[in-house]
Amino acid sequence: MLRLAPFALFLCVAAAAQTAPERPLTALPYTPSLDVTAMDKSVDPCVDFYRYSCGGWIKNNPIPPDQASWDVYAKLAHDDLQFLWGVLEQSANPEPPRSKVQQEVGDYFHACMDEAAIEKLGAAPLKPSLDGIAAIQTLDDLTRFIAREHLSVRGSGLLFGFGSNQDFANSNQVIAFAYSGGLGLPDRDYYTKTDAKSVETRAKYVQHVQRMLELIGDDPNSAAAEANTVMAIETALAKASLTRVEKRDPYKLFHKVTTAQLVAMAPAFKWNDYFATDGLPHLDTLNVTEPEFYKELQKQLTARPIADWRAYLRWHIVHASAPYLSSAFVQANFDFYSKYLHGVEQMPPRWRRCVQYVDRDLGEALGQVFVEKAFGPEAKQQALAMTKEVEAAMERDLRDLPWMSEATKQQALAKLHTIVNKIGYPDKWRDYSSIRLARADFFGNVMRSTEFESHRDIAKIGKPVDRGEWEMTPPTVNAYYDPQMNDINFPAGVLQPPLFDLKMDAAPNYGNTGATIGHELTHGFDDEGRQFDAKGNLRDWWTPEDAKHFEERAQCVVDQYAQYTVVDDIKINSKLTEGEDIADLGGTLLAYVAWQNATRGQDLKPVEGLTPGQRFFIGMAQWACGSERPETKRVRALTDPHSPDEYRINGVVSNMPEFASAFSCKAGQPMVRAKSCRVW
Ligand SMILES: [Zn+2]
Repeated sequence: MLRLAPFALFLCVAAAAQTAPERPLTALPYTPSLDVTAMDKSVDPCVDFYRYSCGGWIKNNPIPPDQASWDVYAKLAHDDLQFLWGVLEQSANPEPPRSKVQQEVGDYFHACMDEAAIEKLGAAPLKPSLDGIAAIQTLDDLTRFIAREHLSVRGSGLLFGFGSNQDFANSNQVIAFAYSGGLGLPDRDYYTKTDAKSVETRAKYVQHVQRMLELIGDDPNSAAAEANTVMAIETALAKASLTRVEKRDPYKLFHKVTTAQLVAMAPAFKWNDYFATDGLPHLDTLNVTEPEFYKELQKQLTARPIADWRAYLRWHIVHASAPYLSSAFVQANFDFYSKYLHGVEQMPPRWRRCVQYVDRDLGEALGQVFVEKAFGPEAKQQALAMTKEVEAAMERDLRDLPWMSEATKQQALAKLHTIVNKIGYPDKWRDYSSIRLARADFFGNVMRSTEFESHRDIAKIGKPVDRGEWEMTPPTVNAYYDPQMNDINFPAGVLQPPLFDLKMDAAPNYGNTGATIGHELTHGFDDEGRQFDAKGNLRDWWTPEDAKHFEERAQCVVDQYAQYTVVDDIKINSKLTEGEDIADLGGTLLAYVAWQNATRGQDLKPVEGLTPGQRFFIGMAQWACGSERPETKRVRALTDPHSPDEYRINGVVSNMPEFASAFSCKAGQPMVRAKSCRVW
């Protein structure tokens, strides 16, 4: 759903480790939402609009050595981090009186920055978990170990994922979800693809697993054997997992079963022990997203000696903990995941990683300070007004849609009218005061805040949904639509210049943030979102003919993007990017109509030699200025539901007659597609 995909560990957010040493910022720097110096006017906009709008930016902003990619969003996120760094340095000082929130984030940050203490500990923080693994003799022991570790280890790397989510059939109710998981590579396709690069990546991965096991004291021979076992287990689990494209179909992820049925799928795993250890209430039903995965898990659990599972768990525990241990672990983790997989040359500085951990673990405490200093009531009110304007455009669009019947239109309008707009930050802040945060125990702080989050998550099972919750923290430079909540969420971090600029005229603002709002809105009606109704329930509210018309129009977009090359011989997997591509196109169209409506009757004049229409489209393109390392392009081609930036711009404008007219482009030019696609 997200506008930008979060990818592996501290890679998505940004940095500029060029020449001058970085210092904390006391205020966010200003960049206008339309920047003529970011353009390359030597390029014909009708030939390559992305280069025309962004050529200067790309030339002036090379990818910093500690980044996998670099773009306008990443640069703004970097500025946010640098600004929060200042806030945290101040909060870390115990001398002046601190508020409760300052004390929480300050002590966490202080512990994270204390590299000498972390270095001295080496692998010691892992000892309790490694001792626990060494004691596993039976599958019962294994179950209890996994249950405990699931509370304090993030992600779904330990065999499978478990947590709470809204019931697909009844969005008011929170139920338990058991997910697939258990992998160490970024996607199940890494284990199944047979091309030379994938074969090489698997070999490098096995070497990395071995290196990490050696770091916790295994001799090279046994570490090598253990690494091969890990690879064999993960390959079996990967093959039984759905692909990312299959996971776009919510029906493929919805299998509500009784606990007894789950036990029947994988009886070797002692589910009742697992639930009891995690303090879960008696579960009548739960959703097993991928039953085939659990059947394979059963096969693996019964076929393998317990020693294999000890090896597998040793790897996953050290892997999950590596970023919070001494430099040998941090470096090895960086070398494989950042350097080899993403092409990053240099480790990001410690301060930046620590700010990101605070944001992840205590985000609504840090967010309070961020909002107070960087997001005033005027920005909130203007963002809300723009959202209403874009929603009004969508309402008109739906009413006039030539291909949709009246019956489906009524349902679509009902859904649109029910969408909740969440702008900036939550109404009620999360209270972290029950977490023990120590000034000299970074590893413990990470574990305890993860446990806090796990308990918070599973405590929701069996209760009505809390509609005030956010999935992103306020400083996040990103936005999302949630089909089950039926809400759009714009954190304060994304409503900042150059993305949202109160000093600038309406055209580039509507092109940029307006199109993002439209993008998130249309997610409610893309290939995935359209399957949920106004209440957020998985229910088919389309007439068969309307569904067919939608699919034909969506297929036009799928065919268009399938032509674009990501890197080398890799094309866009446009069934994976379908929802995002439709949202980019629909969002821009809606923003254009909304902008025209918002400025109707005004005498709009050219600014800096650009007409208002041109300014709308350049503003729209300039959110996406940036570049990526080739290695990162490869990872994203497999994992990211968004198309590469240049196609997110050129792919959209080449479908829009409004664009051709703004730049007087002629039929036959590259930015004017002969067969233009249009869904909304
Ligand atoms: Zn999106």
